[in-house]
Amino acid sequence: MIYTAFDRLFQSNGFVIAYLARQGRTSIRLVLTPKTFPDAVNHNVIADLKGSEKPDEIVIVSGHLDSWDLGTGALDDATGVAVAMQVPYLLNKLDIKPKRTIRVIAYANEENGLRGGTGYLEAERNNLANHFAAIESDLGASHPIGILFAGKSELARYLDPISQILRSQGAAMTRQEGGVGADIGPLTQQGVPSFAPWFNTQTYFNYHHTAADTLDKVDPRELKELGALMAVLAYGLANLEEPLPR
Ligand SMILES: [Zn+2]
Repeated sequence: MIYTAFDRLFQSNGFVIAYLARQGRTSIRLVLTPKTFPDAVNHNVIADLKGSEKPDEIVIVSGHLDSWDLGTGALDDATGVAVAMQVPYLLNKLDIKPKRTIRVIAYANEENGLRGGTGYLEAERNNLANHFAAIESDLGASHPIGILFAGKSELARYLDPISQILRSQGAAMTRQEGGVGADIGPLTQQGVPSFAPWFNTQTYFNYHHTAADTLDKVDPRELKELGALMAVLAYGLANLEEPLPR
C-alpha cells in the first residue's frame, strides 16, 4: 500500500509519541534524507499457467516486487509475490488443471507511482474483456479471515462455494470494498471483478514501510494458510461455469 513518510513515522513510532505527549510538552526533531533519482527501466514479471478450456480468459494472481528500502519488504510485499507464485505451484503439485488461464504477476513499482499496474492496463487495454478476475495480496501474511471483493455486489453469491471450502481454516467471511489492491486498482476501475485476502491486520502496520519489515515477521503457518486461500480462490474463479457480473 502507498503511504507517505509521515504515515510511516507515525505507524512505527506512534505509540512512543503518544506516550511522550501524555507526559507533557513534546518536541520532535525530524531528519529527512530522501532523494529523488531519475526514472529507470523496470518490468512487471508475468507467468501464465494455461487454461485447459478457456485459455484466452485470465484470472490474475499478484503482488508487487518493489519495497521501501528501510527493511527488506518481507511483508510488503514479498509474501504477496510468494503466495501468487504458490498458486500454479500448488495446482501443478496436485495435478489440477484450471479451465481459465491463471496469470501470476509480480508488479513493478507499486510504492513509487503504481507504474506496474498502470503499465499493465495500458498494455492490455484492448484485452480487458478477457480479464475474468484479478486477485492481489498486499497486506502481509497474517491469518486470513476471508475474501474482500470489489465490483458488483452480486459477486458475493459467486464466492459462497469458495468460502465454504475455506471455512475449515477460518477464512469464510466476505466483504465488499471500493478497491482491494493498488496494483489491480486500474483493472478494478475498468470493471474487472477484483479480489484480495481479508487479513487480521492487528500487527501489519507495526512493521509496514519500516526497517522492521523483515522475514522474521512472517509466520510460516500463516503464510501457508494464505497460499491455500489464494489457490482455492484462483482455482474456484478459473473454473466457474458462468461469467461474473461486471
Ligand atoms: Zn504493498
